[in-house]
Amino acid sequence: MKKGLLANAVDPSIGGVLIRGEKGTGKTTAVRAFASVLPSKESVTGCRFGCLSGQPLCPECLARESSGERLAYERRGVEVVDLPLNASEDRVVGSLDLSAALREGEKRFEPGVLGKANGNVLYIDEVNLLDDHVVDVLLDVAVSGVNVVMREGVTYTHPSRFILIGTMNPEEGELRPQLLDRFGLCVEVSGEKDLSLRRRIVERVLDFERDEPGFLSGWRKEDDLLREKLVSAKKMLPAVEVPGPLIDSVVEVVVELGVAGHRGDITILKCARALAAIKGIGIPDEECLSDAFRLSLPHRLKEDPFEESASGLRRLDAVLSRFGGPKRDRA
Ligand SMILES: [Zn+2]
Repeated sequence: MKKGLLANAVDPSIGGVLIRGEKGTGKTTAVRAFASVLPSKESVTGCRFGCLSGQPLCPECLARESSGERLAYERRGVEVVDLPLNASEDRVVGSLDLSAALREGEKRFEPGVLGKANGNVLYIDEVNLLDDHVVDVLLDVAVSGVNVVMREGVTYTHPSRFILIGTMNPEEGELRPQLLDRFGLCVEVSGEKDLSLRRRIVERVLDFERDEPGFLSGWRKEDDLLREKLVSAKKMLPAVEVPGPLIDSVVEVVVELGVAGHRGDITILKCARALAAIKGIGIPDEECLSDAFRLSLPHRLKEDPFEESASGLRRLDAVLSRFGGPKRDRA
């Protein structure tokens, strides 16, 4: 889960992470903690969409610029923007005032969750219970980084780049396969079975509850180090190379596993590059590649209906053992 989240911090175009697992396994805590270690960003002062420096601007910032204003920027921390389950499509994408557009030829736009999400983490708890159509729109925007709202011939476009994180408890219903495939990465979380690790979890929770400021300051140094690591990984990412033979072996494995479409291959390569950048190496090594497979494929594998459950994952393990990567831990 941590590797999947960090890979997205380095390259948000990986397309987010779907975290599957039973209740009470720290999914939400992990997402909030993740946002707190993300490097702060530079946003246009006063922009409703929090336009980011070096990225395409929203119509309002463009208008400010073309009227001769020089945009000022400020540093902002990354927030977790929650998507409520019962949100209507208008709440999510934003709403256009059509009568103003027709009357005055002026586009009045009320931003929705996707406007607030720009430059932030968009978090959907229980994504499997969200309306399919809304999920569809979200996943489109997650990949393109642009929210396009069209109402009766009037169009409004604004940047919406975010890291998408969904969590779900599979016992409460599955996501449609078409939607599953659109999440970049997928991880399964379960309660810890190892007794000493389990004990450490309990101790940390109790420590945190007893003395929150003390707990946070005790971990500040490690948080800062991780943040610096992410900053340098982001800088390094464009220089990480993927040699031809490596691409060959990726597509070979994906075909052998019978994964439909091309999203799997692309995500594996992006993820392997991001993990290499975090490690500070110029070419993904076996560990990066093996992790990238395990993060990018579980939700894209077809299960063999005549085999017991998780046959897809077993086949993935078999293929990956040829790469010499560490074995997946499935206690
Ligand atoms: Zn703007």
